[in-house]
Amino acid sequence: MARYTGPVCKLCRREGVKLFLKGDKCISHCTLDRRNTRPGQHGTSRARKESEYSKQLREKQKVRRTYGMLERQFANTFDKAAARPGRTSENFLQTLEMRLDNLVYRLGFADSRAQARQLVNHGHFSVNGRKTDIPSFIARPNDVITVRDNSKGSEYFKTRILMLAQKGVPAWLSLDVNALSGRVVSIPARTDLELPFDEQMVVEYYQR
Ligand code: SF4
Repeated sequence: MARYTGPVCKLCRREGVKLFLKGDKCISHCTLDRRNTRPGQHGTSRARKESEYSKQLREKQKVRRTYGMLERQFANTFDKAAARPGRTSENFLQTLEMRLDNLVYRLGFADSRAQARQLVNHGHFSVNGRKTDIPSFIARPNDVITVRDNSKGSEYFKTRILMLAQKGVPAWLSLDVNALSGRVVSIPARTDLELPFDEQMVVEYYQR
Protein backbone atom coordinates (compact mmCIF):
# COMPACT_ATOMS: atom_id res chain seq x y z
CA MET A 1 0.00 0.00 0.00
CA ALA A 2 1.22 3.49 -0.83
CA ARG A 3 2.39 5.59 2.10
CA TYR A 4 4.10 8.88 2.83
CA THR A 5 7.86 8.38 2.87
CA GLY A 6 9.09 11.96 3.29
CA PRO A 7 10.45 13.56 6.49
CA VAL A 8 7.77 13.30 9.18
CA CYS A 9 8.95 16.24 11.29
CA LYS A 10 8.04 18.42 8.34
CA LEU A 11 4.43 17.35 8.82
CA CYS A 12 4.47 18.51 12.44
CA ARG A 13 6.07 21.80 11.40
CA ARG A 14 3.37 22.31 8.78
CA GLU A 15 0.64 21.82 11.39
CA GLY A 16 2.52 23.68 14.13
CA VAL A 17 1.88 20.91 16.69
CA LYS A 18 3.60 17.74 17.82
CA LEU A 19 1.96 14.79 16.08
CA PHE A 20 4.28 12.26 17.78
CA LEU A 21 5.23 10.41 14.61
CA LYS A 22 8.69 9.25 15.72
CA GLY A 23 8.14 7.47 19.00
CA ASP A 24 10.45 8.21 21.93
CA LYS A 25 12.46 10.71 19.91
CA CYS A 26 9.42 13.01 19.99
CA ILE A 27 9.80 13.25 23.77
CA SER A 28 13.58 13.62 23.97
CA HIS A 29 14.68 15.39 20.74
CA CYS A 30 11.72 17.04 19.10
CA THR A 31 12.51 19.11 16.03
CA LEU A 32 9.57 21.38 16.82
CA ASP A 33 11.21 22.46 20.07
CA ARG A 34 14.13 23.82 18.05
CA ARG A 35 12.43 24.98 14.85
CA ASN A 36 8.74 25.79 15.08
CA THR A 37 8.27 27.34 11.66
CA ARG A 38 6.32 26.16 8.66
CA PRO A 39 8.47 24.33 6.07
CA GLY A 40 9.38 26.08 2.82
CA GLN A 41 10.81 29.46 1.91
CA HIS A 42 7.81 31.36 3.29
CA GLY A 43 7.83 29.43 6.55
CA THR A 44 8.97 32.34 8.66
CA SER A 45 6.66 34.92 7.07
CA ARG A 46 3.69 36.16 9.07
CA ALA A 47 0.76 33.75 8.98
CA ARG A 48 -2.26 35.08 7.11
CA LYS A 49 -5.70 35.17 8.70
CA GLU A 50 -7.15 31.70 8.25
CA SER A 51 -10.53 31.15 6.62
CA GLU A 52 -13.00 28.69 8.15
CA TYR A 53 -12.23 26.25 5.33
CA SER A 54 -8.51 26.52 5.98
CA LYS A 55 -9.00 25.73 9.70
CA GLN A 56 -11.09 22.68 8.84
CA LEU A 57 -8.51 21.51 6.30
CA ARG A 58 -5.65 21.86 8.79
CA GLU A 59 -7.58 19.92 11.43
CA LYS A 60 -8.32 17.15 8.93
CA GLN A 61 -4.64 17.01 7.96
CA LYS A 62 -3.59 16.76 11.62
CA VAL A 63 -5.82 13.74 12.19
CA ARG A 64 -4.88 12.09 8.89
CA ARG A 65 -1.17 12.56 9.45
CA THR A 66 -1.34 11.34 13.04
CA TYR A 67 -2.82 8.05 11.86
CA GLY A 68 -0.46 7.95 8.85
CA MET A 69 -3.14 7.49 6.23
CA LEU A 70 -3.39 8.61 2.65
CA GLU A 71 -6.22 10.84 1.51
CA ARG A 72 -8.44 8.27 -0.23
CA GLN A 73 -8.32 5.71 2.55
CA PHE A 74 -8.93 8.41 5.15
CA ALA A 75 -11.96 9.75 3.25
CA ASN A 76 -13.34 6.21 2.85
CA THR A 77 -13.00 5.64 6.59
CA PHE A 78 -14.88 8.86 7.20
CA ASP A 79 -17.70 7.82 4.83
CA LYS A 80 -18.11 4.52 6.68
CA ALA A 81 -18.20 6.31 10.04
CA ALA A 82 -20.78 8.80 8.73
CA ALA A 83 -23.02 5.95 7.56
CA ARG A 84 -23.19 4.48 11.07
CA PRO A 85 -25.77 5.62 13.64
CA GLY A 86 -24.54 7.97 16.36
CA ARG A 87 -22.21 10.96 16.32
CA THR A 88 -20.07 10.92 13.19
CA SER A 89 -17.08 12.61 14.87
CA GLU A 90 -16.96 9.99 17.64
CA ASN A 91 -17.61 7.08 15.24
CA PHE A 92 -14.77 8.32 13.08
CA LEU A 93 -12.18 8.52 15.87
CA GLN A 94 -13.31 5.14 17.20
CA THR A 95 -12.83 3.54 13.79
CA LEU A 96 -9.35 5.03 13.52
CA GLU A 97 -8.47 3.81 17.00
CA MET A 98 -9.67 0.27 16.28
CA ARG A 99 -7.35 -0.16 13.31
CA LEU A 100 -4.89 -2.97 13.91
CA ASP A 101 -1.79 -0.78 13.38
CA ASN A 102 -3.08 1.73 15.93
CA LEU A 103 -3.84 -1.03 18.46
CA VAL A 104 -0.35 -2.49 18.07
CA TYR A 105 1.00 1.00 18.80
CA ARG A 106 -1.36 1.61 21.72
CA LEU A 107 -0.45 -1.75 23.26
CA GLY A 108 3.19 -0.68 23.19
CA PHE A 109 4.45 -3.26 20.70
CA ALA A 110 5.78 -0.37 18.59
CA ASP A 111 7.03 3.16 19.26
CA SER A 112 5.02 4.80 16.52
CA ARG A 113 2.08 4.00 14.27
CA ALA A 114 4.45 3.84 11.28
CA GLN A 115 6.55 1.19 13.00
CA ALA A 116 3.39 -0.66 14.05
CA ARG A 117 2.20 -0.72 10.44
CA GLN A 118 5.48 -2.22 9.33
CA LEU A 119 5.36 -4.91 12.04
CA VAL A 120 1.80 -5.81 11.04
CA ASN A 121 2.73 -5.88 7.35
CA HIS A 122 5.59 -8.25 8.12
CA GLY A 123 3.15 -10.73 9.64
CA HIS A 124 4.22 -10.58 13.30
CA PHE A 125 0.66 -10.54 14.72
CA SER A 126 -2.39 -12.70 14.93
CA VAL A 127 -5.91 -11.61 15.81
CA ASN A 128 -7.91 -14.26 17.68
CA GLY A 129 -5.31 -16.85 16.68
CA ARG A 130 -5.34 -16.05 12.95
CA LYS A 131 -2.37 -14.41 11.25
CA THR A 132 -3.42 -10.88 10.27
CA ASP A 133 -1.09 -8.69 8.24
CA ILE A 134 -3.50 -5.96 7.20
CA PRO A 135 -2.84 -2.70 9.10
CA SER A 136 -6.32 -1.35 8.30
CA PHE A 137 -8.04 -4.40 9.84
CA ILE A 138 -10.72 -3.06 12.21
CA ALA A 139 -10.80 -4.92 15.52
CA ARG A 140 -13.83 -5.37 17.78
CA PRO A 141 -14.25 -5.60 21.55
CA ASN A 142 -12.79 -8.84 22.94
CA ASP A 143 -10.48 -9.36 19.99
CA VAL A 144 -7.10 -10.64 21.13
CA ILE A 145 -3.98 -9.38 19.37
CA THR A 146 -0.92 -11.55 19.93
CA VAL A 147 2.66 -11.60 18.70
CA ARG A 148 2.93 -14.81 16.68
CA ASP A 149 5.00 -17.66 18.11
CA ASN A 150 7.55 -17.42 15.27
CA SER A 151 8.21 -13.79 16.15
CA LYS A 152 8.33 -14.08 19.94
CA GLY A 153 11.92 -15.34 19.87
CA SER A 154 13.20 -12.37 17.85
CA GLU A 155 15.58 -9.88 19.48
CA TYR A 156 13.06 -7.11 18.90
CA PHE A 157 10.27 -8.72 20.90
CA LYS A 158 12.63 -10.04 23.60
CA THR A 159 13.72 -6.45 24.32
CA ARG A 160 10.16 -5.24 23.94
CA ILE A 161 9.00 -7.39 26.87
CA LEU A 162 11.34 -5.46 29.17
CA MET A 163 10.00 -2.13 27.95
CA LEU A 164 6.37 -3.23 28.08
CA ALA A 165 6.69 -4.14 31.75
CA GLN A 166 7.32 -0.45 32.47
CA LYS A 167 4.65 0.99 30.19
CA GLY A 168 0.92 1.08 30.81
CA VAL A 169 -1.90 0.69 28.33
CA PRO A 170 -5.12 2.72 28.05
CA ALA A 171 -8.06 1.53 30.20
CA TRP A 172 -9.95 0.26 27.14
CA LEU A 173 -7.17 -2.23 26.39
CA SER A 174 -5.53 -4.93 28.49
CA LEU A 175 -2.08 -6.42 28.09
CA ASP A 176 -0.46 -9.67 29.15
CA VAL A 177 3.20 -8.72 28.91
CA ASN A 178 4.69 -12.21 29.22
CA ALA A 179 2.36 -13.66 26.61
CA LEU A 180 2.93 -10.61 24.35
CA SER A 181 -0.80 -10.45 23.94
CA GLY A 182 -3.35 -7.68 24.24
CA ARG A 183 -7.15 -7.55 24.30
CA VAL A 184 -9.61 -4.87 23.25
CA VAL A 185 -11.72 -4.46 26.38
CA SER A 186 -14.13 -1.97 24.84
CA ILE A 187 -14.50 0.64 22.14
CA PRO A 188 -12.90 3.81 23.52
CA ALA A 189 -15.13 6.74 24.41
CA ARG A 190 -13.94 10.19 23.35
CA THR A 191 -12.96 10.91 26.96
CA ASP A 192 -10.59 7.88 26.88
CA LEU A 193 -8.63 9.40 24.02
CA GLU A 194 -6.16 12.14 24.79
CA LEU A 195 -6.08 13.50 21.28
CA PRO A 196 -5.54 17.18 20.58
CA PHE A 197 -8.05 17.30 17.73
CA ASP A 198 -11.25 19.13 17.07
CA GLU A 199 -12.78 16.23 15.17
CA GLN A 200 -15.99 18.19 14.64
CA MET A 201 -14.02 20.37 12.23
CA VAL A 202 -13.08 17.28 10.25
CA VAL A 203 -16.78 16.43 9.98
CA GLU A 204 -17.47 19.98 8.78
CA TYR A 205 -14.65 19.68 6.26
CA TYR A 206 -16.10 16.54 4.67
CA GLN A 207 -19.72 17.66 4.91
CA ARG A 208 -19.20 21.19 3.54
FE1 SF4 B 1 6.84 15.65 15.30
FE2 SF4 B 1 8.14 13.80 16.66
FE3 SF4 B 1 9.41 15.20 14.76
FE4 SF4 B 1 8.71 16.33 17.09
S1 SF4 B 1 10.20 14.67 16.78
S2 SF4 B 1 8.46 17.21 15.06
S3 SF4 B 1 6.71 15.33 17.49
S4 SF4 B 1 7.70 13.75 14.48
